[in-house]
Amino acid sequence: MLSAVGPPVTVRVPAKINLHLAVGDLRPDGYHDLVTVFQALNLFDEISVVSTHTGRGPVDRIGPGAPGIELLGDVTDAQRADVPLDASNLAWKAAVALAEVAGREPDVRIGLRKSIPVAGGMAGGSADAAGTLLALAALWRLDLGREALMEVAAGVGSDVAFALHGGTALGTGRGENLVPVLSRHTFHWVVALQDHGLSTPAVFGELDRLRATSAADTPVKRVGSVEPVLEAVASGEARSLALLLGNDLQAAAVSMDPGLRRTLRAGVTAGALAGVVSGSGPTCVFLCADGPSAVRVAAELSGAGVCRTVRVAHGPVPGAKVIDGDPAR
Ligand code: ATP
Repeated sequence: MLSAVGPPVTVRVPAKINLHLAVGDLRPDGYHDLVTVFQALNLFDEISVVSTHTGRGPVDRIGPGAPGIELLGDVTDAQRADVPLDASNLAWKAAVALAEVAGREPDVRIGLRKSIPVAGGMAGGSADAAGTLLALAALWRLDLGREALMEVAAGVGSDVAFALHGGTALGTGRGENLVPVLSRHTFHWVVALQDHGLSTPAVFGELDRLRATSAADTPVKRVGSVEPVLEAVASGEARSLALLLGNDLQAAAVSMDPGLRRTLRAGVTAGALAGVVSGSGPTCVFLCADGPSAVRVAAELSGAGVCRTVRVAHGPVPGAKVIDGDPAR
């Protein structure tokens, strides 16, 4: 329980997967151009914010050196070890960015209840940043439109805007330029979580290395064009989408973590239509024909010894949403 002044505002934010992730060559500025199709799944982090401003005396200032971030709920050892509780936490960066826009102090405490795997390629940190933005906009009763909030989100990190947006979306640039993708159908997924993470910059670096060192006659394979993926999403046909799932980072993630090859194979053997590494990995996601099939695949995969745990999930689901304590309501 967060201790501070006034009731908390709590926001729920979904994890993302990438149905398609095309990674351009390394640019001189160190970034890569991306073309990606995000989908939000019903695997959520919850972010609670409370004011530490008493309204009496000086503001209980929690400066950038000592942010008020804590982990809530059943915290795993891995979360304790891997989630920074200092100013580098993306949720805190979001709070500082929004406070600047609002012209006020980030006089808040932030509680994170994490279900999205840490460093799992499902943008958990970005989800926490998006949740913090929405929660603080409500707590501070900011008169900011969705567009303005999306702009602050894009400045905090490339996946933050999508976590606010949710659904299915085409992302370009570094992933922050978003266009909604028509998707009236639900897709059923099995998510295989690992007991370790992969560093996103290290996976991009490995892809650059693989591309630079591959022989001219056997270049590292790249995903095809995005249009057929958008059509398959719009059609709602899981079998069509399964043939088109693709991720340029997969070769790099598998190169760094060769066990993922077994995980990917095991999901398909268990009856999934197809599997793909999510983002920079190591989480693998498997598209299934329908809900019951996903439950069967998950049961079989969890006994195969190729991942820490499995979750059945579906998407698309909406983006960040206030679930408790909106003072404006
Ligand atoms: P992406 O898919 O966006 O590259 P990811 O899902 O692989 O990210 P995250 O869980 O977002 O990875 O975390 C990546 C790193 O960011 C972590 O190892 C951790 O050091 C740092 N981090 C900062 N803020 C957070 C947060 N709120 N939750 C988890 N990790 C965070």
